[in-house]
Amino acid sequence: MASLGTRPSRCFAALGIAFAALTALLGTGFGDILYVVAMAQLVVSMVFVARTRRFERGFLVLVGLVGACYLVANLTSSDAPAYEAVLPALFALMGTLCIIAAIGIVLGRRRNGMADGVVGDALIVGLGGWILSWVLLVQPVLATTTAAVPAAVLFGFTQPTACVLLFMMATLIFTRLERPPALWLLTTALFCSIVGDLVYALMNVGHLGLGAERFGTAIYVAAYFLGTAAVLHPTMPSVIAARPEPVEMVPFGRLIGTTFALVIPMLALTVSASHDTTDLVVRAISASILAGAVTTRVVYSVRANARAQGALQVQARSDPLTGLPNRTVVLEHADMLLRSTSNGAVTLYFVDLDRFKGINDSLGHGAGDEALRIVASRLAAAAPVDAIVARLSGDEFVVLKPSASLDRPTTPIADVLMAVFTEPLALSAGDVFLTASIGVAALGAGVGATASDLIRRADTAMYRAKSVGRNCVAVFDESMHARAAHRLELETALHRALERNELQLYHQPILNVRTGTVTGFEALMRWRRQDGSDVSPAEFIPIAEEGGMIVGLGAWALLEATTQLRQWIDDETCPASSTMSVNVSPKQLEGDGFHAVVREALHRSRLPARNLWLEVTESSMIDDPEQALRTLDQLADLGVRVALDDFGTGYSSLSLLQRFPLQRIKIDRAFVNRVADNDHDRALVRTILAMGESLGLEVVAEGVETIEQLAVLTQLGCSHVQGYLISRPVHANAMRSTLSALADVRTITQSTDKASRQRQLPGSSTEGHEADSDRAHSAQRPRSAS
Ligand code: C2E
Ligand code: CA
Ligand code: CA
Repeated sequence: MASLGTRPSRCFAALGIAFAALTALLGTGFGDILYVVAMAQLVVSMVFVARTRRFERGFLVLVGLVGACYLVANLTSSDAPAYEAVLPALFALMGTLCIIAAIGIVLGRRRNGMADGVVGDALIVGLGGWILSWVLLVQPVLATTTAAVPAAVLFGFTQPTACVLLFMMATLIFTRLERPPALWLLTTALFCSIVGDLVYALMNVGHLGLGAERFGTAIYVAAYFLGTAAVLHPTMPSVIAARPEPVEMVPFGRLIGTTFALVIPMLALTVSASHDTTDLVVRAISASILAGAVTTRVVYSVRANARAQGALQVQARSDPLTGLPNRTVVLEHADMLLRSTSNGAVTLYFVDLDRFKGINDSLGHGAGDEALRIVASRLAAAAPVDAIVARLSGDEFVVLKPSASLDRPTTPIADVLMAVFTEPLALSAGDVFLTASIGVAALGAGVGATASDLIRRADTAMYRAKSVGRNCVAVFDESMHARAAHRLELETALHRALERNELQLYHQPILNVRTGTVTGFEALMRWRRQDGSDVSPAEFIPIAEEGGMIVGLGAWALLEATTQLRQWIDDETCPASSTMSVNVSPKQLEGDGFHAVVREALHRSRLPARNLWLEVTESSMIDDPEQALRTLDQLADLGVRVALDDFGTGYSSLSLLQRFPLQRIKIDRAFVNRVADNDHDRALVRTILAMGESLGLEVVAEGVETIEQLAVLTQLGCSHVQGYLISRPVHANAMRSTLSALADVRTITQSTDKASRQRQLPGSSTEGHEADSDRAHSAQRPRSAS
């Protein structure tokens, strides 16, 4: 059936037009035969379609009923005028009502809100039609013929029901976004049949001459054939499909329809005078019912509208997850408070959860949502009563608090909000601890500041809280703005830095103090901008980490550093056993792809994995231990060794050292700095060295600046050192001379070695060493080091 496409449908439509034209041309005699043919083909095609296509049973029953009603109406009709033939009128009316019911079902199924009020509107249209029908058809029949009242009234019902049908069809068509051809065919068929009815009715009453009959029949013929064309059309099933669809907003056409249904009957009532009491009573009652229907409909509309508006407003102003007000509410409220002319002030607490992504990633989004809901309710409970707690987005909450003046301290409330996070969150997946960083900003009311200013300031302060280590409160001050602007500028420039060739690696030698030889180098990134200014890695690396650029920069550094070492080994700047240390930020370890990046760099540089050290920090292993372990294991499989950088500054947990495949720890320069004159730090370094030894880890002391520090470290048994004392990080071209200068120093120190060993450390004889070492790198002082 469907494979035949639209061809049968088109054939029947064409046949319909041809037969209709013939009927109109040849007149009623021949036309009656065509009429019967038209009826018959409709019935046959209905049965055929019902059997071949899978329509719902209920629907088929309804269609069958329509067919049966019209059939009976036709069979019982005689040559008597319609207003006297009760049976045909009754059955025709029932047929029409069945069609109306069918359309009503289709409309109701679409359930897009458009069905709302359709019944009311249809009633209004029907009543309007009835009044017209009364004035134009029924009343004249009653006044001029001997027709019985019930029969005349029944006759008068044909047109109003037809109006309702038309109205429903229009609603069906105009509330859809997509209008399949079958729908158009069906509508045209129904429209034709209604016009046919009207022609006959007008003829019956005498408004039209009998000559019009052939046209009436022709229109019926066309209607039946078009009906067949509609049901045969492949798009027919989609017409009655129960498919909710989006809809054009205002049912404007419907409004026009109902207005006409009101105005025209009223005009008819006013223009034509009533004939007798019956007429008067019918008119009065009809008009009153119509008025009542309209009033009810209007009340209903207004109510439904208000309900919809209310629902929309709630939706637009609250966060569906937590039920808290959203950004719109905060902005509105803050603006209102800031605009007020009192001497008051408004304080905004910007609460951003720390490492919330971790919960989402490890426990799933369901747990993340749960956590957000708990935090929301705790914040709402903790905030002062006159404050608004809202969720801005993701893991950002704000507390907006009006106060009497700007001088009020903001920290007590911030502390209360911080306290919300001291208890663990009881998620279904288990208890979790979350911390938050809070930024606070206050603005005076009536000074022209806007809500966005306030939020921006609090946001800036929150960033400050994050950057000083999270889990704390920062209060906004003006300098933060400049800093934030500068940061943003750097971030933008950093995106372009690689392609503009602004980045370089410098290299700092690592010395084995036992042999006095340089065993390796640490690659350190340098950024010299096009304007000649240098940006310190301490400043741009965190920006690159936050912006995600570090992944690209890190991969570049890895390839650059391994290639460099390969070249130095090849041109004998350093021995083949020399190593290169490359810093790896936690972000780089996050995905699964890092080991591939390392493998690629080793492959392209032809550097053995043994010559590469990767320096990672403890935070890499704390944030997502499973992922870190996976990556480090993969790296170990490659043969690459891993050093734990900045040891002593973070968690410095022993379990970390045991659990992860590490081969080296680097003592942070903060301890090395004080190792010569602070007993506590010296004890700490001694402990780290002992720990390293027992775990079989090599220990490198970084940031060695003085001969005293070197002496103490050597005495404590530290094997490797790195620092300005040996050499600053230098440009690749300067490495050869740096290394030979270092070799000279070694020769000098070796000759004085005996003498120095006889002294207590720190000893004065080491001055020559420092001077020499200074000379060693003064010629290659790097641009960035001050
Ligand atoms: P880090 O890994 O701890 O690197 C050692 C830092 O100490 C370097 O700072 C180095 O120049 C400096 N330094 C070395 N000897 C001395 C000394 O005797 N005294 C003092 N005061 N400082 C010394 P730099 O180059 O500014 O790098 C800072 C940080 O930036 C590095 O700390 C590292 O965390 C990061 N970084 C540098 N390059 C890269 C890179 O390519 N990738 C990543 N992810 N981070 C990098
Ligand atoms: Ca490092
Ligand atoms: Ca370090």
